[in-house]
Amino acid sequence: MPSFSTRPPVLDLIGQTPLLELPFRKERLRIFAKAEFLNPSGSIKDRLARHIIEHAEENGMLQRDSIILECTSGNTGISLSLVGAAKGYRVKILMSRTASIERRNLIRHLGGEIELFEPTQGYATGIHLAQQMAENDSRYFLPRQFENPLNAEDHERGTALEILRQVPGQRVDAFVSGYGTGGTLTGCGRAIKRAHPSACVVAMEPAESAMLSGEMPCCHGIEGIAGGFVPPLVLSAPIDQRIKVSSEEALTMTQRLAAEYGLLVGTSSGANVCAALQMARMLGPDAQVVTILCDRAERYYSTRLFEASRHVDAFESSSPVASNSVGMP
Ligand code: PMP
Repeated sequence: MPSFSTRPPVLDLIGQTPLLELPFRKERLRIFAKAEFLNPSGSIKDRLARHIIEHAEENGMLQRDSIILECTSGNTGISLSLVGAAKGYRVKILMSRTASIERRNLIRHLGGEIELFEPTQGYATGIHLAQQMAENDSRYFLPRQFENPLNAEDHERGTALEILRQVPGQRVDAFVSGYGTGGTLTGCGRAIKRAHPSACVVAMEPAESAMLSGEMPCCHGIEGIAGGFVPPLVLSAPIDQRIKVSSEEALTMTQRLAAEYGLLVGTSSGANVCAALQMARMLGPDAQVVTILCDRAERYYSTRLFEASRHVDAFESSSPVASNSVGMP
């Protein structure tokens, strides 16, 4: 049964994430990363899911038989399924066939329903499909993460204010973020600019699909960002600079973050750190650059991120020692 009055305790675990200084200090580079992978479903999207659903409840937009319907690359679907499970709503997620299997499994595990679509025109295909479904059935409630101003607002009033309280001396010289819906980049960008007008807001995008730089969209390997179009929220972001990061660089950095620093995060986090490093080198010693660690590594087991570790397993199982140990009683 949907509960409108009290907030289920799991939803209080969302937000108030730590801000970690990454270990680049010997190069006199100060990079701080918001540990959004610590949210209860494992990504920054828990913030948006809780905010939009609670706003809809407060404004009478959700009824007991409502079905939350959204098109998403996966993380928003997992977050909406978590909030839906906690509050007792049905959740239906439209996902591109290219999204990783871990994301589909997590949505189903949380009781969400999934419809897969062929991403002939990137996310746009799924967004159109969701609109059509909502026109034919009034039970559907569409969070509309790509255009909903509540998305950026939540980061402006939540994520960014947390960052501004946590960063040493409350000083941010640059804020770096990729964009999926653009909620993080636009919301945090706005609040950080307001607090520090000289701060540089940097949009990171895949080198293979750098649409903000006027290039054509194309396939890339940084899941969760740059879905083939520039979302409306990004058009209103106070962007000072754009940095391109290739999928290969992002992958290598994500693997380094795990193997050298113990940070189990996804590829868009690695890409953010690549761009933050570039920015810190540009600004010079002691400039304080803030970025986001968006989600957890575990939801990328089936992707290239874990290929290196799969090679190690294959090597071990074909070695005499490993095969002996398998056969031992
Ligand atoms: N990284 C990952 C892994 C994501 O799933 C998303 C959201 N799709 C983002 C980054 C970008 O967040 P936003 O939608 O706020 O731009």
